[in-house]
Amino acid sequence: MKRDDKIHPFISGNKWRKLKYILQSARHAGKTHLVTFGGAWSNHLLATACAGATFGFKTTGFVRGEAVSNPNLSLCKIYGMELQFVDRTSYRNKPLLYEQYVTSNPGAYFIDEGGYSTDGAQGCTEIIDELSLTYDHIFCACGTGTTIAGLHRGCARKELHTRLHGVVVLAGGDFIPAAVRGLYPDTEVDGLTIHTDYHFGGYAKTTPALNSFIRQFTAQTGILIEPVYTGKLLYSVFDLAKRDYFNVGARILVVHTGGLTGILGLHEQLV
Ligand SMILES: *Cc1c(COP(=O)(O)O)cnc(C)c1O
Repeated sequence: MKRDDKIHPFISGNKWRKLKYILQSARHAGKTHLVTFGGAWSNHLLATACAGATFGFKTTGFVRGEAVSNPNLSLCKIYGMELQFVDRTSYRNKPLLYEQYVTSNPGAYFIDEGGYSTDGAQGCTEIIDELSLTYDHIFCACGTGTTIAGLHRGCARKELHTRLHGVVVLAGGDFIPAAVRGLYPDTEVDGLTIHTDYHFGGYAKTTPALNSFIRQFTAQTGILIEPVYTGKLLYSVFDLAKRDYFNVGARILVVHTGGLTGILGLHEQLV
C-alpha cells in the first residue's frame, strides 16, 4: 500500500498531490485567493482551506446545498475559508458562480470541484515516480478521475506495463474514461480497468458489509480506512482476490488516498 494518507492530516493524500501544481499555477498567475467547490463533507474543500492557510492564499468554498454545520465545514472555517452555500441548481453552473465572484475579486483563482484539472493530474503522476518496485496491478479510488489520469500518465511516461484499476465510489461510474480523456485527450483508455460495482449504493453510502470489512481491516492492520473512498477501494481488492481475479504471485499496489476525516460524517453508522 502506498500510504499517501501520511502526507498531512488535512491536506491529505491525493488532495495534496492535486493541489501542488494548482497552487503553483495560481502563484505564477499572481493570484491570491483560491475559489473552489464541494459538498458539505468534501475532503477537497478542507484540503484547499488548509493549503491556502499554509501557503498564504485566501480561500472561498462554494458548498452545495442548504446551509449546514458539520465538523468538516468547521475545520474549513478554522483554517480561514469563507463558505458560501448555494442551492443545487446554481451549484451545477460553477463557471457562472465563479464569474460572478471574480468580478469583485480580481485575485481569485478557479479550482474545479475535487481539483479536477491537468495540474491536479500532474501532481498524481509523482505517485508513480516515487515507486521503487514495479507492480502488475495498481488500484486507486475514483471520484472525478483526476488521480487515475495522473497515475496513467505516470505509468506511460515510465513505459510500465502495470494494469491500472479505478474503483468508482459513486453510482454510474462509466464517465471515468471520458473524464480521463478530458484531461489527457491522447490517453488510450483501454489500458484502464474501471470497476463500477463497488459503490455500495452511491457516493458516501455504506452498508453493514462494508462497515464490518472496514472495522476488520483496520483492527487487523492498524491502517485506518473510511467508508467514502478507501473502504470501497480495499473491499474491491479483497473481493476480487476472493474471486481469483489475480494470478498467483501478482504484485498489487493499493494507493491510500487519505481522506480519513470522512469518518466523522459516518462514524455512527460505521460501528
Ligand atoms: C477525493 C478523493 C478521491 C477521488 O479522487 P479523484 O482524483 O477525484 O478521482 C479518492 N480518495 C480520497 C480519499 C479522496 O479524498
